[in-house]
Amino acid sequence: MKELFKEIYKKIKEYDKIVIARHIGADPDALGSTIGLKELILNTFPEKKVSVIGVYSSVFKYMGRMDKLNEKEIGESLLIVCDTPNIARIDGITNPRDFAYVIKIDHHPIIDKFEDLKWVDTSASSVCQMLIELSYETRLKMNKEAAEKLYMGLVSDTNRFLYDYTSPKTFMLVSKLISDTKIDIKPLYDNLYSRPLIDVRFLGYVAQSMTVTEGGLGYLTISDEVIQRFGGDTALSGNIIGSFNNINEVLVWVIFTEDKKNNLIKVNARSRGPEIHTVLEKFGGGGHPMASGARLTNAEDIDKVIKALEEVCKNYRK
Ligand code: AMP
Repeated sequence: MKELFKEIYKKIKEYDKIVIARHIGADPDALGSTIGLKELILNTFPEKKVSVIGVYSSVFKYMGRMDKLNEKEIGESLLIVCDTPNIARIDGITNPRDFAYVIKIDHHPIIDKFEDLKWVDTSASSVCQMLIELSYETRLKMNKEAAEKLYMGLVSDTNRFLYDYTSPKTFMLVSKLISDTKIDIKPLYDNLYSRPLIDVRFLGYVAQSMTVTEGGLGYLTISDEVIQRFGGDTALSGNIIGSFNNINEVLVWVIFTEDKKNNLIKVNARSRGPEIHTVLEKFGGGGHPMASGARLTNAEDIDKVIKALEEVCKNYRK
């Protein structure tokens, strides 16, 4: 067993109460990793109290339910934060330091240090992949329930094994996972990829309306009025942002969505070439090199983000 894996396993074994958290605006990797990890722990140590916290996601309801954080138990609990590089984006926790011990398991570039022990692997396709690896490298026992959650998170974060982060290790772990647990992947894909008609109609609108620059930047601003017209909410843009990959003329694409209720502008940005997370970091956001986001409080920043991303595209093409 590698030293780091041993250390993580030791801490899980040591604490009776464990809280697992992830980032706000949960996606399948955040949900699959946290709920999958809970399964792994309970399958190994059924007597432990394990809570997965964060806002319940009705869009990803097939991933499972959330637990309530018992504030009184924070001081005696182990906190494991998955898929989250900074304190501000941990869903449901303002001060991780209040916990007895904190482990961070993440594949984002490092931002804040809030942990006692970290395992950060930016080459990993997903945190779900990391947890499959953790299970095979320790005595954390895999079962079908954990495998299904972890598989869905991994498939979603790699966009069905399409993105760069998909490595021989990804295939090796997934192959072992499927043969060991005999999960049936067809219903999992039904969960992940069936979508409401409104998303597809909205996708058509975005495709029609997106401006594409000479440098290869696709961009569009979605007003609250447009969201109302489609009968959706601000999550619409996030649901379809992944659909603009592999378009010859588009290297980087970004959607700015007005969030009237919270008086801000949600930014969803993706790339299939240049790294963009550093650009979004300058505007208070961040994420992965090829998938980043931000929340703008000043509408004037929209043009600045567009300019900065256009610059990144041009430099990349050079
Ligand atoms: P999204 O476009 O919301 O799917 O986000 C893509 C990636 O960017 C994810 O890894 C998020 O964690 C990250 N991200 C999104 N919004 C923010 C933000 N406001 N600050 C930092 N990272 C973000």
